[in-house]
Amino acid sequence: MADKKKTKAEELAEKLLSDKKNGILRADDKEIAAADDFNEGYKAFLNTAKTEREAVCEIVRLAEAKGFKAFERGKKYKAGDKFYFVNRNKAVILTVMGKQDISKGIRLAAAHIDSPRLDMKQNPLYEDKEIAYFKTHYYGGIKKYQWPTVPLSLHGVIIKGDGSKVTVRIGEDEGDPVFCISDILPHLADSQYKRPAPQLIRGEELNIIVGSRPFKDDKISNKVKLNIMAILNEKYGIVEDDLISAELEAVPAFKAVDVGFDRSMVGSYGQDDRVCAYTSLMAILDIKKPDMTCMTVLTDKEETGSDGNTGLNSSYLPYFINDLAAVYGAQGYNVMSNSECLSADVNAAVDPTFAEPFEIRNASQINYGVVATKFTGARGKSGTSDASAEFVGRVRNLFDKHNIIWQTGELGKVDAGGGGTVAQYIANLDFDVIDVGVPVLSMHAPFEITSKLDNYMAYRSFVVFFEDPAK
Ligand code: MN
Ligand code: MN
Repeated sequence: MADKKKTKAEELAEKLLSDKKNGILRADDKEIAAADDFNEGYKAFLNTAKTEREAVCEIVRLAEAKGFKAFERGKKYKAGDKFYFVNRNKAVILTVMGKQDISKGIRLAAAHIDSPRLDMKQNPLYEDKEIAYFKTHYYGGIKKYQWPTVPLSLHGVIIKGDGSKVTVRIGEDEGDPVFCISDILPHLADSQYKRPAPQLIRGEELNIIVGSRPFKDDKISNKVKLNIMAILNEKYGIVEDDLISAELEAVPAFKAVDVGFDRSMVGSYGQDDRVCAYTSLMAILDIKKPDMTCMTVLTDKEETGSDGNTGLNSSYLPYFINDLAAVYGAQGYNVMSNSECLSADVNAAVDPTFAEPFEIRNASQINYGVVATKFTGARGKSGTSDASAEFVGRVRNLFDKHNIIWQTGELGKVDAGGGGTVAQYIANLDFDVIDVGVPVLSMHAPFEITSKLDNYMAYRSFVVFFEDPAK
């Protein structure tokens, strides 16, 4: 068959115009198989690490299995040494020392391990119409109507009057009971339907059912509440006032699963941002002896704005870098000024069913690879670091050189809403920072969806960033 000669226009179009294809059409079978395999570990992580505290425990366990040791302040580490630093059981920094002098800067990946959820109030337990409930205060940005009639598990810690700590994890194992918020039946929902959508379920209606059997006694009131407290006392040795010094979090009780006939996607609670936490964790665990010192920080409190001493708007990260720099006679601020960061957080994948808020030419799509986002924020780019063209160029070049399947994407149309990440807080420390992460469908819902290929490409993007030699 004769070669069909390209027209001048076809030649020019090929040379000049952007032509991004679906990642599945660009990856070979080996790469797709590697992606599928990678996501098995990811699902296991999602099922084990459902809260920031559980994530820290699991991260430390995985890191120690790969030879990481607890950080010793003042110790002079050598190239290839691996260590982790835990901040208040809710955030962790993992480091692999590089061959280059630390004053040349570090390569940092930053992701968060907190996710939207329902926190118990400090006086949670009450009884109404002989049903026992926990009062909650939601954490992060949720569509409140999505949370009733979903099976919930309970996680966290209770500090007792004597200072001892009880760990709670109930509703996850086979045979465990779960908890649930009720909703009004459609037959009687006429007045609920008239509420504006953000109030379809109100914050004070997110009350979790925790029991219904009264204590067998005729003398006292609140017998169901007493019975629940008796069970909690037997199981955990606590009294009602111990709940004041507790952090109990309700999250969806279901497990991470494959989605679709083709099993191309992962469905789970908490993928924002445990998808970037797991991928940047696996990258730091897998590198051997990098040229530059590499760090992954997995932080808390992103979903409430990064404030607080376990969030990245606090000083724990620069303090840690200062401590490390001091050992080598370097100044922490010099290290940070020479450093680069991939702020790893999810992006909104275009949702064809709800396409209206997306600007299709600048939206990310599932299966199109890891997303590099120049800026986030709202309105006129407020609350963002806006990566420089130079740094975007550097990252673009790096990803292309290593055949990373990647895309750009902005969070929705201008003025459609907006959102932020930790990028600005790290940029404020004088790092060069860009947002890099995974496109997600149904972000912040009890069950979020990602693409297995995109998740794997996120992992690979962190690996090439860490392994890239000094400039
Ligand atoms: Mn996030
Ligand atoms: Mn989020």
